[in-house]
Amino acid sequence: MTQRPESKLFYQSRRRRPLLDQARGVYMWDVDGKRYLDGSSGAMVCNIGHSNPHVLECMRRQMDKSSFGYRLHFETEPAEQLAQKLASLAPEGLEKVFFVSGGSEAVESAIKLARQHAVATGDSQRYKVISRYPSYHGCTLGALALTGYAPMTAPFDPMMQSMPKIPAPRAYLDGLDPEDEATGKFYADMLEEAILQEGPETVLAFMVEPVGGASTGALPPPKGYMQRISEICRRYGVLLIHDEVMTGGGRTGAFFAGDHWQVEPDILVLSKGLGAGYAPLGAMIAHERIVEPVLDKGGFIHGYTYAGNPLACAAGLAVIEEIEAHQMMANASSIGAELKAGLQQLMQRHELIGDVRGKGLLLAFELVADRETMAPLPREAGAFDKLVEIAYDKGLIIYSRRTRGGYTGDHFLVCPPMIATANHLDE
Ligand code: PLP
Repeated sequence: MTQRPESKLFYQSRRRRPLLDQARGVYMWDVDGKRYLDGSSGAMVCNIGHSNPHVLECMRRQMDKSSFGYRLHFETEPAEQLAQKLASLAPEGLEKVFFVSGGSEAVESAIKLARQHAVATGDSQRYKVISRYPSYHGCTLGALALTGYAPMTAPFDPMMQSMPKIPAPRAYLDGLDPEDEATGKFYADMLEEAILQEGPETVLAFMVEPVGGASTGALPPPKGYMQRISEICRRYGVLLIHDEVMTGGGRTGAFFAGDHWQVEPDILVLSKGLGAGYAPLGAMIAHERIVEPVLDKGGFIHGYTYAGNPLACAAGLAVIEEIEAHQMMANASSIGAELKAGLQQLMQRHELIGDVRGKGLLLAFELVADRETMAPLPREAGAFDKLVEIAYDKGLIIYSRRTRGGYTGDHFLVCPPMIATANHLDE
């Protein structure tokens, strides 16, 4: 391995990783020439694969024109065109687009828009945002307050407003059938109970990942859940916010995962698949009826310096063009079904695989000590960490979430780019 000086960089830990040299399609190479299959699209980001020529060309063209225009000084064509495109893809009525640079920023924006809408419409006693446990909504303090994942939130608890959480619908752990409508009702009704317990007049919004991401491991909703959640929100005047940071952009086989259940949220956010690794980009898309009162009452008191960056928006636009030109969402559905079947076959052979789940190319398998009880693997066995390293050594990148002591289950996300072929799956 190439010798490298001590790093001045730091992220979560001191662990060093190989130095990336280049990436093309579904593959990445380190500076020693070792090749990796990107089986998780980074962190479910690089949905259309690496170094897509059309995206790079569109970015180059934009860079030759301008790479920054401050939003209070200029409008830019890429931002305007991308907003138009997103509004056309979003559910009916969600027509107002607000750009940010990532998922946490998008979630913060949604929380603040919801709150400002309540204030603007004379509902200022509403401030509680209900979310689920487990869940992940981002690492900034507002988004973290909605995140249901104690290992990440605990140190910051004294600094955050505590927000109510309901259990995520992990039917596989509770011994329930996700295909049974009674299961969907069982979990959705927990939202109604929470609203009643908190006092409906104080509840601002409910935030939900239509297909759970990193914290629940590609968890699709049980039958009827999304529709019932939506009905409950309407009944109590609670805004429904879809966190599509991981699912938005086609990975589940539809541009927005919520589309699978024809549910219309009041606000939705997306990020990872929008910039698809080419540029830091995210967006909040809100219904006109939410945005207009806020603008009427003096404006949205929120915004980021890099919002609507023309280079990032040019990348986002080109990413969507590629998704559409190459029918990548259809591929995510069909190749995702093949991959899921393959993982289910693995489950027949390996008794430590307790569950295989997901939608399209947002898939996961879960390791358990005992399939009957779904008890998690004992932490001291170290098997989970070893598996991550073995895969890495063999040149396969999968996204792991070792969540310890049964916090959220020990799962691996298997989420190759939407350009993956049957040959890649075999590999
Ligand atoms: N929401 C969801 C569902 C996510 O999966 C993530 C990131 O994994 C975020 C929010 C936060 O996004 P970011 O890491 O870009 O801030």
